[in-house]
Amino acid sequence: MKTAHLFKNKTVLSFEIFPPKRDTSLETVNQTLEALRDLAPDFISVTYSASGSANSAATVAIAAKIQNEQRIDSAAHLSCIHRTKDEVLTYLEQLKANNIQNILALLGDPQLGVAVQKDFRHASDLVAFIREHGDFNILAACYPEGHIAAPSLEADIRNLKIKVDSGADQLVTQLFFDNQFFYAFRERAAKIGIHVPIEAGIMPVISRGQIERMVALCGVSLPARLTDMMARYDNHPADLLEAGIDYAVRQIVDLIEHGADGIHLYTMNNATVARKISEAVQSRIISRR
Ligand code: FAD
Repeated sequence: MKTAHLFKNKTVLSFEIFPPKRDTSLETVNQTLEALRDLAPDFISVTYSASGSANSAATVAIAAKIQNEQRIDSAAHLSCIHRTKDEVLTYLEQLKANNIQNILALLGDPQLGVAVQKDFRHASDLVAFIREHGDFNILAACYPEGHIAAPSLEADIRNLKIKVDSGADQLVTQLFFDNQFFYAFRERAAKIGIHVPIEAGIMPVISRGQIERMVALCGVSLPARLTDMMARYDNHPADLLEAGIDYAVRQIVDLIEHGADGIHLYTMNNATVARKISEAVQSRIISRR
């Protein structure tokens, strides 16, 4: 088994950020990056918008800045549902030119009004294609509660095995709010012969609207503790934020204690929240030793 080079015999900590959207500027993203820097993550991944090439240029530019200016390993996401093989080759060349060695290979979700290309039917096709065309460290997505479109957990894990056998070096999970889903998933993965490192994706609850959007989009479950918390602090956003941070910290500490290979924090470009979580996790882990 090839050991992914981002894993160094400890629980890896990575952050995910996204390029500027309509209501934010590149400057805001740069400020987030500066603020994340001294938390010394093992890598930072940058999302990719399926809809247009201007957005993909932003992914490369931000990943390059992290890699070459901040001197932190970066991982550039790529979704292939709207991409041809030639476009993917161009993207790979851009990554190589910018010294970016890590790529999170995704199918992506179809965007309204954008033609679906037929070159890649599943993320596993993209993984195999990247493997053929360069010496990248390939990350791929996985789903502790099953992908929303998968007919069953069994079918989803069999498809994941195909993706890993196609060349994925490590996996990052979709967000989940109940660690039991992650532990059960890890067992299913081991049973079917998936032995690459699996990072647990954690999204702190920042607001009720954000969580409701995620649940609708990804089909993840909300445990009663979380729905009670959101109801209790419904009209108190600052209290909800603090409670959301505490919830994420407890989840992460439990995952580390149960030997998770890594924690991938969906930062939502909020460096203050990422800092509070990182510091609280560190102090709780140290105080339990
Ligand atoms: P796949 O692995 O292709 O799986 C999609 C579905 O197809 C699943 O139901 C799976 O069971 C099924 N399937 C897979 N292979 C086969 C097969 N051989 N035969 C039959 N069925 C199969 N989206 C973006 O647009 N940009 C991003 O930057 C981005 N970042 C993400 C980061 C993470 C960590 C995660 C978890 C998701 C991210 N997404 C992103 C969302 C992702 O693109 C969607 O979840 C998408 O619906 C599935 O992508 P995938 O790569 O997992 O697809």
